[in-house]
Amino acid sequence: MVVVGLTGGIGSGKSTILKCFKSYGIPVYIADDEAKALMNRSKVIRRKLIHLFGDKAYENNVLNRPYLASKIFNDKTLLSKMNAIVHPKVAAHFKQWLSKQDAAYVIKEVAIIFENNLQNEYDYIITVVADKDLRIKRVMQRDGVSQEKVEAIMKNQWSDADKIEKSDFVIVNNTLQEAREQAENIHNNLLKILNP
Ligand code: ADP
Repeated sequence: MVVVGLTGGIGSGKSTILKCFKSYGIPVYIADDEAKALMNRSKVIRRKLIHLFGDKAYENNVLNRPYLASKIFNDKTLLSKMNAIVHPKVAAHFKQWLSKQDAAYVIKEVAIIFENNLQNEYDYIITVVADKDLRIKRVMQRDGVSQEKVEAIMKNQWSDADKIEKSDFVIVNNTLQEAREQAENIHNNLLKILNP
């Protein structure tokens, strides 16, 4: 099965674009959502996260995301330790999910691909980009956070130019209409490439 990675910086519009592909009948996997679900569902992950972060990692049996986010934000070692607990489980879950799909290709949305040197896990990579001021405005509105907070997150992510260089396809999402047209073109191109 052909796996297409969909990536892009915060607020570029990954989730928005993913819906386009879903509407074409393409199976989609949202790595972040599945990771969250597994962090709540898996007893093994829960035990390991409590060992790493302490009892506050869960509140009323539900993952305490704000607490974890505050802990890992400026602590790369802790972030890697958390990833080492969660990522293998998500990878196994994805593999199982993939084995059940029947389509020309599937799309996996992952916020960070190049930053973690994971590009070889994908047959093709689509990067969604948008102007920085638009992205900041969108995230401030979506998440109710400050400009500084968004910029701090952006600092941990690669620049669009670096990502574009390593991508097979790029979607510029400054307006929804142009982004939708590009998504449809990419979909049609992929179908042609995969079923000549
Ligand atoms: P990402 O998943 O890359 O962080 P989202 O798809 O969640 O980004 O988009 C961020 C916010 O911006 C969302 O609230 C979304 O509805 C909005 N948005 C995305 N694309 C556009 C667009 N082209 N025009 C206006 N708003 C947009």
